[in-house]
Amino acid sequence: AKLAGKNCYRYYSRAMDHAVERRVHMEQELRGAWERGELHLVYQPIYRTRDRRLVGVEVLLRWQHPQLGAIPPSVFIQVAEQSGLIEQLGPKVLRAACMEARRWEAVAGGEQLFVSVNVSPRQLRNGDLSDVVVACLAESGLPASRLHIELTETAVIGDEMLAASLLDKLHRHGVKVWLDDFGTGFSGLSHLRQVPVDGVKIDKSFVADMQRDPDDLALTTAIIAMCHALGITVVAEGIEQEAQFDLLAQRSCDLVQGYWLGRPLSSTQLVQLLKTSP
Ligand code: C2E
Ligand code: CA
Ligand code: CA
Ligand code: CA
Repeated sequence: AKLAGKNCYRYYSRAMDHAVERRVHMEQELRGAWERGELHLVYQPIYRTRDRRLVGVEVLLRWQHPQLGAIPPSVFIQVAEQSGLIEQLGPKVLRAACMEARRWEAVAGGEQLFVSVNVSPRQLRNGDLSDVVVACLAESGLPASRLHIELTETAVIGDEMLAASLLDKLHRHGVKVWLDDFGTGFSGLSHLRQVPVDGVKIDKSFVADMQRDPDDLALTTAIIAMCHALGITVVAEGIEQEAQFDLLAQRSCDLVQGYWLGRPLSSTQLVQLLKTSP
């Protein structure tokens, strides 16, 4: 038994070394990936529920590595956050998104589209995000009203004061802030009191379970009602079926996003979509 235990330990230790190695390798590869053109942005359509009109897009980062292939953001964003690389990468995403959004103005309907950009907790703690935002808006010429920032609850937890003062600055410039993955943090209610956000994005786990789990449906219904009472916009993400859309529409969820409505698109594909949208 002792021997087996030892082997076991060795096995796990080797497996762990391997994981650490992979991580370090990925971090090295991620450094300079933007400059090498391996990173690009895609844009997932966001629709107004009422009339199913395309009103905005969420910006999502993609990494296509020459040898490793497509690496999912769930993997590399974490590496970028833990290594601190996100502090260089985040502003590049923000800037590129603002520049791109300006180009859509040339297409009918594109002059009204908002871009919603994910911002990592780390970007909040180090340096002034509002300075970066203001610089990107000035450089691109994008009106502030067309830029939204998505913050996760974890970005807000722990330092509500910092988050509140940042939000205040962004608001004064006219930028909207949405709380992402809402409902997963267990403390959503208290955050809405302390951190005055403009919108919440109901996490896709609620949407996924809504039809079979009455609790999830009840929570979704309650979140929408509560947000509306507070004057907060509600976005639901991860809509994969018409039935989910219908349930959310019945409950007056303001905006919707998901594979059933539209997959993330390249900028060219988005322009095409605008051209063919009524
Ligand atoms: P998120 O902010 O919650 O983004 C939504 C994720 O759900 C995206 O995954 C999107 O492709 C996916 N999704 C959209 N519709 C559906 C659907 O109908 N069903 C399902 N199952 N999934 C759907 P993605 O692109 O893999 O991104 C994963 C996460 O990586 C994002 O979650 C976000 O936290 C992070 N991320 C992506 N791009 C950036 C970025 O530029 N900056 C930062 N800080 N984080 C990013
Ligand atoms: Ca998001
Ligand atoms: Ca989300
Ligand atoms: Ca559930």
